[in-house]
Amino acid sequence: MTKFSPQPGIMEIDLYVGGKSALAGHAEVLKLSSNENPLGPPPSAIAAMQEAAPRAHLYPSTDHAALRHAIAEAHDLDPERIICGVGSDEVLQFVTQAYAGPGDEIIHTEHGFSMYPILTHMAGATPVRVPEKDRVVDVDAILAAVTERTRIVLLTNPGNPTGTRLSDAELTRLADGLPGDVILVIDSAYAEYAEGYDGGKSLAETRDNILMTRTFSKIYGLGGLRLGWGYGPRGMIEVMTRIRQPFNLSVLHLAAGEVAARDQDWVSHCAALNADQRARLTGALRQLGIACDDSDTNFVLARFADETQAIAADTALQSEGIIVRRVGGYGFPEGLRITVGDEAQTGRVIAALTRWREGMA
Ligand code: PMP
Repeated sequence: MTKFSPQPGIMEIDLYVGGKSALAGHAEVLKLSSNENPLGPPPSAIAAMQEAAPRAHLYPSTDHAALRHAIAEAHDLDPERIICGVGSDEVLQFVTQAYAGPGDEIIHTEHGFSMYPILTHMAGATPVRVPEKDRVVDVDAILAAVTERTRIVLLTNPGNPTGTRLSDAELTRLADGLPGDVILVIDSAYAEYAEGYDGGKSLAETRDNILMTRTFSKIYGLGGLRLGWGYGPRGMIEVMTRIRQPFNLSVLHLAAGEVAARDQDWVSHCAALNADQRARLTGALRQLGIACDDSDTNFVLARFADETQAIAADTALQSEGIIVRRVGGYGFPEGLRITVGDEAQTGRVIAALTRWREGMA
């Protein structure tokens, strides 16, 4: 018993630190566990950060105007409806904290992003977990779970770790079916990898209860910088801005983000590489008898016969210095989530899994 008691809900929050050891001592560790961009940060953003570094003694802008305008131009959006955060994680925190509290419910789906229940507890609200169907979000199950206490639905589209995506028609059916006073958050962290998907933009343009969240962590190659943004109705953005710390973004965030948002050639280049290597990895897995769905992201969920096989494959990969993500905690004990790498990295994964398979024969 300590003198200090944490607020209700805090002890329900999982400790989200740590992770797999860095395979200390292995000559060439290949980390394919966090869906990072194999090409690194865009050179344009590196130059912008170097240029901005000597100004690091000055406090950054509090309104993020230049960054919001660059994002708005790149995506043809209204800059006044954009809010920026320390990763899209922080934007998700703004919306859950601003609009839900004790007694309220926040819905997420069975295999939704692992931060959702954490953010829900941080807001003091109750997470409601809804099943998916064949590893795809089930719109009817979400609609059936809505109660008078529902404040927010958190939807990952495309999904993580499934890599699958709701069709635009299903997404619209979900938006149409929700009560108008429930906020639908479309977390589109992987939108750029899904061909023909607008990330929920057209829905956000036509409804007043939708927040689209996006990130610079994936295709923009800036996961270590921590920069994300949301697009919603003006009133919602204003409310969230009230709880945003004015100096949440550093001069480096602002400098890199503005340049990266304008560097759409980089985005196209990364998307093309990912599409090629994803098709190659998916095909090779299937040829090895390892099941996987078509992915709309920069990772593939490999499903083995059972948990024992997934552990054995993970161990075999680790012995070759390759780190992938076990996803038992996401509801897939038989799964390994493998980030799509560049050509050489993908070759290394395929070769390691092929050797593992041959060893089983
Ligand atoms: N949503 C999903 C579905 C994600 O996978 C991630 C990162 N793994 C995030 C949001 C958060 O991204 P970030 O905070 O880096 O922008």
